[in-house]
Amino acid sequence: MSAPGPGRLRLHLTPAAETAVRRGHPWVYADRIRRQNREGAAGDLAVLYDRHDRFLALGLYDPGSPLRVRVLHVGEPVVVDDAWWAARLDRAMAVREAGFGADTTGWRCVHGENDGWPGLVLDRYGEVGVLKLYTEAWLPRLEALVPLIMSRLRLRSLVLRLSRNVAVVAEGRHGRREGDVLAGEPVDRAVEFLEDGLRFESEVLRGQKTGFYLDQRDNRRRVGAMAAGGRVLNAFSFSGGFSVHAARGGAVEVVDLDISGHALASARRNMGLNAGVPMVAAARHESVQADVFEWLAGSPGRVFDLVILDPPSMARRESDREGAIAAYGRLATLGMARVRPGGVLLAASCSAHVSAEAFHETVRGAVLRAGVRFEELETVGHPFDHPAVFPEAHYLKAIYLRRALR
Ligand code: SAH
Repeated sequence: MSAPGPGRLRLHLTPAAETAVRRGHPWVYADRIRRQNREGAAGDLAVLYDRHDRFLALGLYDPGSPLRVRVLHVGEPVVVDDAWWAARLDRAMAVREAGFGADTTGWRCVHGENDGWPGLVLDRYGEVGVLKLYTEAWLPRLEALVPLIMSRLRLRSLVLRLSRNVAVVAEGRHGRREGDVLAGEPVDRAVEFLEDGLRFESEVLRGQKTGFYLDQRDNRRRVGAMAAGGRVLNAFSFSGGFSVHAARGGAVEVVDLDISGHALASARRNMGLNAGVPMVAAARHESVQADVFEWLAGSPGRVFDLVILDPPSMARRESDREGAIAAYGRLATLGMARVRPGGVLLAASCSAHVSAEAFHETVRGAVLRAGVRFEELETVGHPFDHPAVFPEAHYLKAIYLRRALR
């Protein structure tokens, strides 16, 4: 994959940005570029120089984004050719392949910046890959990238997904659309895969993220391990991942609560896919289509042994932060009221703009105000196929609390 376009794009950064890049931060904002030798096009390989005109780093240029350069490599100069990209993909794959057995076939192969592929996510659901792009910079590079991914991951099909801002320019400028099958056999429906031996569908063409919340795998395992004999409320259930794990773990009742009928239908299908598992078949499954805040605030009296609160991101931008924290606090307060003595509350957040500390403190504060005794069991972060290597990457956090018996 050689850089498209004319002569090398050369950039000089502000001293502060130079220091950040040297320390490994992968983003350079447009206002941190002091000068550049020419206009850059999306996907250009930019060479960053330090204040003494020495080589600093290589990155991908995106003229349409305030996040102008996403760093690929820092240190000594390197030749970025097909072999370099292949080695980089193999490195990410080797870590995952060693970590998953045959009973888990859905996982994140490449987690963007954290794996050296800035703005690019690659998930696999069995033999179907889903490539999600968060910067236009990758679009001119797809021709070289797709065969590499197909062969290294041994895929049957590769689906393209685009963040909203990239989708806007993809068709006009690059002839690509959200949901395109980039290579292999056509994909026209949800794709089945395994997680810890349980069967799930992922709506790879249109579903949220790449079709499934792979990032909650570790929490689903924990939930499965603590569900025996209990009644479980899965609030913001989406396609019911937590519920299926809880059912196999021996829950007598699982309630999926989501505002989306589409999500609840998928959750019912996922439960059905596992009807051959005796514990899953034995569990009572209920779907409730409602706003979580309203449902929890109303219909008092119904309590559970395990309450899961895994809402969508509440802070899309920094200015949403305070509002998000208030919403997390309110949600924790409402959720706690539904936990039976001896039961557990799992509260999660996927807002990158709310730090783990702020989130955990918010939930702890809600506990104190509730005046009910809860013991903190643990706080957890990212699963190993979703590494987080720079501050802004730490989006996922969760806290487990057990309500005292009296
Ligand atoms: N816990 C899920 C992922 C949650 S995604 C999993 O592990 O797979 C967030 C979900 O919350 C979506 O399905 C969305 O439809 C739902 N949602 C968003 N706002 C909601 C609200 N106010 N009340 C109920 N559901 C809501």
